[in-house]
Amino acid sequence: TASRETLGFQTEVKQLLHLMIHSLYSNREIFLRELISNASDACDKLRFEALHNDALYENQSDLNIRISFDKEARTLTIADNGIGMSRDEVIANLGTIAKSGTRDFFSKLSGDQKKDANLIGQFGVGFYSAFIVADKVSVLTRRAGEKADQGVRWESDGGGEFSIEMVEKAARGTEITLHLREGQDDLLAGYKLREIIKKYSNHIVQPILMQKEEWKDGKYETLEEDETVNQASALWAKSKNDITEEQYKEFYKHVGHDFSDPLAWTHARVEGKQEYTQLLYIPGRAPFDLYDRQARHGIKLYVRRVFIMDDAEQLMPQYMRFVRGVVDSADLPLNVSREILQESKDIEAIRKGCTGKVLGLLSDLAENDKEKFAKFWGEFGQVLKEGIGEDFVNKDKIAALLRFATTKADTAEQIVSLQDYIGRMKDGQEKIYYVTAETFNAARNSPHLEVFRKKGIEVLLLSDRVDEWVVSNLHEFEGKQLVSVAKGGLDLGALEDEAEKKEQEKQVDEFKPLVERIKSSLADRVKEVRVTHRLTDSPACLVADEHDMSGNLARLLKASGQ
Ligand code: ADP
Ligand code: MG
Repeated sequence: TASRETLGFQTEVKQLLHLMIHSLYSNREIFLRELISNASDACDKLRFEALHNDALYENQSDLNIRISFDKEARTLTIADNGIGMSRDEVIANLGTIAKSGTRDFFSKLSGDQKKDANLIGQFGVGFYSAFIVADKVSVLTRRAGEKADQGVRWESDGGGEFSIEMVEKAARGTEITLHLREGQDDLLAGYKLREIIKKYSNHIVQPILMQKEEWKDGKYETLEEDETVNQASALWAKSKNDITEEQYKEFYKHVGHDFSDPLAWTHARVEGKQEYTQLLYIPGRAPFDLYDRQARHGIKLYVRRVFIMDDAEQLMPQYMRFVRGVVDSADLPLNVSREILQESKDIEAIRKGCTGKVLGLLSDLAENDKEKFAKFWGEFGQVLKEGIGEDFVNKDKIAALLRFATTKADTAEQIVSLQDYIGRMKDGQEKIYYVTAETFNAARNSPHLEVFRKKGIEVLLLSDRVDEWVVSNLHEFEGKQLVSVAKGGLDLGALEDEAEKKEQEKQVDEFKPLVERIKSSLADRVKEVRVTHRLTDSPACLVADEHDMSGNLARLLKASGQ
């Protein structure tokens, strides 16, 4: 038809394509995993939409994915009979990257292929990975429920643009044909494709079909009959003992839309009032959009193996938004919507259960695998800290997982737990002391620390943005109060000896006239002027009143326009 149009890729897509082709070549087989993962998602989506509209099945409700190849034409085709895409969807999904923060992300790329390959994993590779092995990709798709003439063909050579036109497509779903690059012919073999599918996509729920082959007269002959190459059952529904570590990892890459291995996971079937299965993963590293609260991928919700929704944010508290995985409920109705989820008591119980599981997993790591826990803390510690103010019920458990920089090591590394701190407290010390500042160096060089350093008392050095929020919500830990060294009249209690106290009283008298003079000249600009014993080297410092905002918090609020 005359409707063929050529459109340009969004700049970021061009960058992604370039990077992908050049830096992921040594991982080229993952393109098949990504395309099968998308095909599976498309089948899940159709199954879900068809719950409300059976007509979408068009009398064909067996969902599957088919892999075929043509040796002569040197093409490889991945087809599914899932939801398909409309013209607008094709343009949006295969012409742009709709993740916020994308531009920012790409501005961080260095041009060093090794480093960038690492970053790209963090970004997620997806559909565009087809261009690792193909110099031309052709997508033929039609959305379920639309007429046959609503088919769309998208084509691109992975350069700056793609073409799009309306075509006939009798069967709904999507067919992706890869025209292989020079030197990729080993992919045009049934056994090779089976090997890759078994390795990366065995856990996919839908059957992945290929034509059967028979060894005859020294070569493979294709039969007219199909066979299922993968295991085609829900991994999470199996018993733990029947799942290998590799299978858990590969499944993670599908549900987590991640390129690299997870750090840890927890898998359990919960029985009782609520019956559900949870398979929850902690990613190996933070996605680039971790701080974007609109980020999409979280927990997938299933009801009795039927996919219901991606990113069911009600299943996890915000401060665990890094968790990926699946929850499969035996009790929820199939027609459950986001609105229903919001009010559902059942969901609340599941969220509680999942939150507890993840906290348990983290405590376990903290105790038994310090290296992994340190890695977790480096990637997600900032987010977990939000939980102190967000999750009242689990506050103590979260507090036990917090790690801080302190004056002991005097480095920015966050490695000290509150238990460690308490275990090292001085004789007579009753409180946990901290200082907050805008940067680590400002915290470490705070004049408020002088007396603590002199007496050898450890102080937590807090300089992350979220720390003010943490200390305004965490007032004590294991019976020990958390106290800012910069607030109020510093009462070190039993840490001071009698002689010191006497000396201080004497000084207060002695300096009364000076204090009066400073007070009258500063007038309204201060609330109070005191002789202090907190300083050993600096002549003076500003302190906040016990119940007033700290100087650092006031600064943060001002910076955020409040
Ligand atoms: P992701 O899977 O993480 O969303 P991808 O780059 O793999 O990112 O895919 C981009 C989008 O293209 C998908 O979210 C989906 O909307 C669409 N898409 C890709 N493949 C298919 C397919 N086989 N059927 C329907 N939609 C697809
Ligand atoms: Mg994908």
